[in-house]
Amino acid sequence: MNVALFGGTFDPVHLGHVAVARAAAERFKLHCVYFVPAHVPPHKLAQPITAFGHRYAMVTLATIGDRRLVPSLLESPEHHAEHGVNYSLDSVRRFKRGLDKGDRLYFLIGIDAFLEIGAWHEPEALLREVEFIVVGRPGFSLAEVGAALPESLRPPAAAAESKRKPPATGDIVLPGAAIHLLKGVAEKVSATQIRDTAKDGRRLEKLVGPLVAEYIRKEELYRGEATGRSMKSASARRAASHFQLLPGGKTRSSRQV
Ligand code: ATP
Repeated sequence: MNVALFGGTFDPVHLGHVAVARAAAERFKLHCVYFVPAHVPPHKLAQPITAFGHRYAMVTLATIGDRRLVPSLLESPEHHAEHGVNYSLDSVRRFKRGLDKGDRLYFLIGIDAFLEIGAWHEPEALLREVEFIVVGRPGFSLAEVGAALPESLRPPAAAAESKRKPPATGDIVLPGAAIHLLKGVAEKVSATQIRDTAKDGRRLEKLVGPLVAEYIRKEELYRGEATGRSMKSASARRAASHFQLLPGGKTRSSRQV
């Protein structure tokens, strides 16, 4: 079976994420794409993040209707004790323990996130551990993938190639890394844009789909610090106790990486 982990903050999950997952599923014949919201994303420690329970609930709603798209608790609050944050390397290793011998695992990621990989926790080990699928995103060039690799893995010509046009396609196979490039997904939407749109009280259906839009409305998410990131309903409060949320519905860590 071919499966992919698609990690992110998903604050909130949006139609861009769904389009990316579907495109990857088609191209790489993936049986499952696991959407893995991080309880404590190491790269977003400085900003308040909506409670894990809410983000997981929205991922569940966004993946309804396509049996290949699966919400995952791989980086739920139960699984961040070791370092205080969710490192992809730990998650990938833990996930692989449950795979069968013939299974093939991919790590699905947008080019904007991949460009930061040099600053991740043990990037060489992660690249050795799992094949990457890097997806294009408006405003970013897939040709920069080679140059973004950690120095020890970087092909010599990568820096020069990153300046050449047009954007790269295909595969980069190096000793210690296998990276597949996926062009053609050009959804302009971002979670930042959605949070701003919600704050202004505008409709979100076209950005997140009807179910997630309804959830955001019911829970009054993204309306501003006071109410937007709270746990309002009884069901969400139950989720809060299950996911050990901090008061105010936020997850925040004082630990820096
Ligand atoms: P924010 O605006 O808050 O930074 P985001 O929209 O980038 O959020 P994340 O949850 O941070 O969403 O992204 C999870 C993964 O999905 C990352 O690998 C990111 O690159 C990818 N991704 C998000 N939106 C798109 C998009 N429109 N096209 C391609 N990849 C995307």
